Amino acid sequence: MVNRWFRPPENQEEWDHMSYKIVADQCTGCGACEYECPNKAISESGGVFVIDAGKCTECKGFFDSAQCAAVCPVDGTCIPA
Ligand code: SF4
Ligand code: SF4
Repeated sequence: MVNRWFRPPENQEEWDHMSYKIVADQCTGCGACEYECPNKAISESGGVFVIDAGKCTECKGFFDSAQCAAVCPVDGTCIPA
């Protein structure tokens, strides 16, 4: 199904993104970020959640800010890698 909200990256700078990462020591395993990620880049591993850097676009094309960081209840846990 076509996601009508998707906007492809417009230039090389947008493609050359960095990803976000989760600081495992601080993750409570609540799972809120997994639900919000538009790229399904977040999954559970051993009781904490991890971001697949190959799938994370920093939410570009979907949102103006990283949704995992926005919803995470622990400040500084979802951060730019
Ligand atoms: S920044 Fe966006 S795309 Fe990347 S892991 Fe977080 S929610 Fe997913
Ligand atoms: S929202 Fe934050 S605390 Fe919850 S699973 Fe994701 S990284 Fe961990």
